[in-house]
Amino acid sequence: MLRTLYADVIVDISIEALDKTYQYKIPPEMQKDIKAGTPVIIPFGKGNRMINGYVVGISDKPKFDENRIKSIETVSKKGITATQALLSLACWMKEYYGSTMNDAIRTIMPVKKKVREVTEKEVVLKAAYKDAEALLSVLEKRKNSAAMVRLLGELIKKGSLDYRYVRKHLNISMSTLNSLLGKDIIDIKSSRMYRTPISDAEMPDKKVILNDEQKKAADGIIEGYKQHKNMTFLLHGVTGSGKTEVYMSVIEKVIADNRQVIMLIPEIALTYQTVQRFYRRFKDRVSILNSRMSAGERYDQYERAEKGEIDIIIGPRSALFVPFERLGLIIIDEEHEDSYKSETPPKYHAREVAKKLAGLHNAVLLLGSATPSVDTYYRTQPDYPYEDKIIKYELHERTGRASLPEVEVVDMRLEIRRKNYSMLSRTLYNKISECLKRKEQAMLFINRRGYTGFVSCRNCGESIKCPNCDISLTIHYTKNTNKMMCHMCGYETTTVTRCPKCRSAYIGGFGAGTQKIEELIQKTFPQAKIMRMDSDTTSGKDGHEKILAAFANHEADILIGTQMIVKGHDFPLVTLVGILAADMTLHINDFHSAEKTFELLVQAAGRAGRGKLPGHVVIQTYKPEHYAVACAAAQDYKTFFEQEIAYRKIMKYPPVSYMMTVFISSDSEKLSADITDTAFKTADSIIKTHTDTIIIGPAPHQVFKANNMYRYLIHIKGDNIIVLEGIRRAVENAVEKGFEKDKYVMQFDMQ
Ligand code: ADP
Ligand code: ZN
Ligand code: ZN
Repeated sequence: MLRTLYADVIVDISIEALDKTYQYKIPPEMQKDIKAGTPVIIPFGKGNRMINGYVVGISDKPKFDENRIKSIETVSKKGITATQALLSLACWMKEYYGSTMNDAIRTIMPVKKKVREVTEKEVVLKAAYKDAEALLSVLEKRKNSAAMVRLLGELIKKGSLDYRYVRKHLNISMSTLNSLLGKDIIDIKSSRMYRTPISDAEMPDKKVILNDEQKKAADGIIEGYKQHKNMTFLLHGVTGSGKTEVYMSVIEKVIADNRQVIMLIPEIALTYQTVQRFYRRFKDRVSILNSRMSAGERYDQYERAEKGEIDIIIGPRSALFVPFERLGLIIIDEEHEDSYKSETPPKYHAREVAKKLAGLHNAVLLLGSATPSVDTYYRTQPDYPYEDKIIKYELHERTGRASLPEVEVVDMRLEIRRKNYSMLSRTLYNKISECLKRKEQAMLFINRRGYTGFVSCRNCGESIKCPNCDISLTIHYTKNTNKMMCHMCGYETTTVTRCPKCRSAYIGGFGAGTQKIEELIQKTFPQAKIMRMDSDTTSGKDGHEKILAAFANHEADILIGTQMIVKGHDFPLVTLVGILAADMTLHINDFHSAEKTFELLVQAAGRAGRGKLPGHVVIQTYKPEHYAVACAAAQDYKTFFEQEIAYRKIMKYPPVSYMMTVFISSDSEKLSADITDTAFKTADSIIKTHTDTIIIGPAPHQVFKANNMYRYLIHIKGDNIIVLEGIRRAVENAVEKGFEKDKYVMQFDMQ
């Protein structure tokens, strides 16, 4: 007799109130099929409604009166089994990011249901061509062979035909097919189709011999991999320095060792060129995921991964959750990219989750970037005090081509003093003219990210900052007053019409969008063909791909755009990159503003001179002395990092300290404020006993009212993550006790 076993089941309903596990008996006949991760159908509630759930644990001890425990109805045939590692990952994400278990499970299972398989049958010619032709000429002379003649004639021309086409269009009967099959003249192949978006993997692979720096990096990483100790590496090298070649070399070794690889690439950089390189090297052992795929296509990829038919998956952050059993390596290319952070709960960062996942598999994590995030680089420092150290390798040179572009910084404050009020400096004007004369291409980049009502001075370059947080204040227009506010701590002041520092009246927000710039440039250079790329012009599935492809095809002389144009494609004819207001991102009301600015400037500059022609970059700025601008112009990452980390240390910002953000929202303004108050007081009372922890706020969210929800933020900074997690649980409990659960949303974000 088998022992009775009980399963803890998480119910698959998106109501947070049900975010706990329920115990069910496992019927003896199902014991062999049920393990953690198995999708099941269970009777639920008073009416015993049949609903879906996931087994998250198994034990032999009933949690309450055994007779009241219901039994699992059946194992769900449609559901997909989660691997043990992914399930552990979900549990960790729930704890670490403070999400519900349901949200965590939803995240690790981007494909939940089996989707109808895409099958395709083909009729192929099996006999040799000359035999088939001989047979055809015989048949042509015979009566009653018209059908066979039709089929053979086409098959000889094409080699293979779609089955439906043969049956419906050529009108070939089953008996005709069977008779040809019997004579081994044709074959019918029923193949499961894994639609891979890129087909011609047939082109020869261009093997390169790694240079010394590349070899040193690849060897070091493989050495780490062989130790099976879950190490993390950073490969720091400018675009074109050969990072991808290092990735491919490491991947080869890992798959030769019969283990699997996940490679994350920002979706926008997942271009034809990149993917093609991997297909050429790894053929059908590699597959890709992207957001444009249908559910069926995605499911195919997951199933192939589960069956071990592929070794490498390339995709955006959700590719982390592809069910590989023998994962050996995770690569995150362009690891500094914002798209690796999820904006919905659990608000995870792919880097952290990858680290955890690599740990569960004893795999290696490899991060790559030209401008590593401050978080990552901090962990490569010799004096970094914790266990999660990162080993750094550097690639210093662009392979096989000219040096980095020549960068010129233009101080726009001087332009104003010389009565040039245009968005275009004289230097940039001259460079564009020359570029057009040489029949080369230019890219003009407008840094508009984070443009949200900050105020800065065009005369001295200062923006108005919060005295507590050193981040820019944001204008709030209310009915009667204009006020400026800090969205970190809630500090308020009245708006100003003159710069507090230099008394200039040239103060205000920057409003010029891409369209305005396009008009200006077209007026200035009437002979130039101009394309614009921003969220207005890139609607539709492949909107931005189309514009970039047209530009690569030299259908325009100048491409104007937002940060979108900075990534992806190589344009060999682009010799000029102009950055119109470089410091715009310095004003984001976020402590990452300098980091984001540096990153964008370096990446934008890296677009120039990627072919054989030398490149020029013009950076227009109101703050040339700011280290983010100056270091970007000098392409000097190390100096930038030193300045930035010193600032973070003084301000106790991550990665030096942890920062937890509590987000509260409700459709009632009063309720939202009350909950925020409760949360704040609860946190504050704990903080009194932990002097190394600081609470900031509460402050209204940047966009206080959105979708009729009133939103607040509280930030808590501290060195001890255990204390922060304790605060989170206390806040959760206090708010849960005091307020009705379905009347508000409370989320946590840990940085
Ligand atoms: P990154 O990933 O850093 O942008 P890539 O790996 O794409 O750099 O390399 C840029 C170009 O240089 C590619 O065309 C690549 O094939 C070539 N390349 C890289 N390493 C070498 C090498 N050791 N020898 C010759 N060509 C190389
Ligand atoms: Zn000023
Ligand atoms: Zn502040």
